[in-house]
Amino acid sequence: MSPGKPTILVTGGAGYIGSHTVLALKQAGFDVIILDNLVYGHRDLVEKVLQVELVVGDTGDRPLLDNLFNKRNIAAVMHFSAYAYVGESVTDPAKYYRNNVVGTLTLLEAMLAASVKKFVFSSTCATYGVPEVVPIPEDYPQNPINPYGASKLMVERILSDFHVAYDFKSVRFRYFNAAGADPNGLLGEDHNPETHLIPLVLQTALGKRESISVFGTDYPTPDGTCIRDYIHVTDLASAHVLGLEYLLKGGDSEVFNLGNGNGFSVKEVIETAREVTQTDIKVVECDRRPGDPPALIGSSDKARKILGWHPQYSSVEEIITHAWQWHQKRHQ
Ligand code: UDP
Repeated sequence: MSPGKPTILVTGGAGYIGSHTVLALKQAGFDVIILDNLVYGHRDLVEKVLQVELVVGDTGDRPLLDNLFNKRNIAAVMHFSAYAYVGESVTDPAKYYRNNVVGTLTLLEAMLAASVKKFVFSSTCATYGVPEVVPIPEDYPQNPINPYGASKLMVERILSDFHVAYDFKSVRFRYFNAAGADPNGLLGEDHNPETHLIPLVLQTALGKRESISVFGTDYPTPDGTCIRDYIHVTDLASAHVLGLEYLLKGGDSEVFNLGNGNGFSVKEVIETAREVTQTDIKVVECDRRPGDPPALIGSSDKARKILGWHPQYSSVEEIITHAWQWHQKRHQ
């Protein structure tokens, strides 16, 4: 362990946002152990790029967790591992509640048993449902419209109750649309299956897909397509390090939105991708995708004020440029 810096357990550290955060934790001098079942995570990334200890297993595996907490002096847990496909959560909610809620509860109970009481949690703007104000503040009522968002909200509730009952401190981050890739090209977004707009647009620019489908052109937005707040994954990672340091310094439980406070429509994202990639990206206009709110934009003033968070890559051009560099490199 590095002198003075504690050991942090990162679940889902082999995934997209988790891996970028592990890189940021390493750069900040923390000792990291990743717990990942590798269902969606990438062993290669951990072994070749991150070069930290990897424990392969589930967050619902209590004996494994007890063993880990007993053997290692873990100061805090960052919990990224979760299923996160909204559509699948509608067709198979049991899978989402078991993994995202029951698995997390098991992890939290193992933490309590080991007296580890600092927790950084990946929540989501999907807990807000269909908000009627933008930008959305943290105290806006949460009313998720799909089981994925509901599973995250349930954990938020568990964390509030643990705070009261067990003096368990957590930072909950509600992400808006995570996008982009490590600016130095070390890491990027690699989901299978891929459902997110920016990677799909870039795969189209690379010729791996014929066209990009635009889901709905009749929304009550200026160009009729959905508006989202895209936040660079490296900025999400830096917020996590700040959130962790806040807890380690004795900070109280808090919830923070993480977004840029700017919205971009699907058509604007595609247009920017055309400019960045210098490619004519073919578009097919389709019906709306069920469960998509027209506009989601977050107010992150609280994270800026309390954590001193300053996103570095707030333009959508930069986000797409970094993602493009990663996609080109991967498909060489
Ligand atoms: N979207 C789209 N075509 C695609 C994928 C996504 O038009 O092939 C739209 C989607 O309807 C949403 C926005 O792009 O309005 C962002 O979707 P994404 O899946 O990237 O993130 P989400 O907002 O669901 O978290």
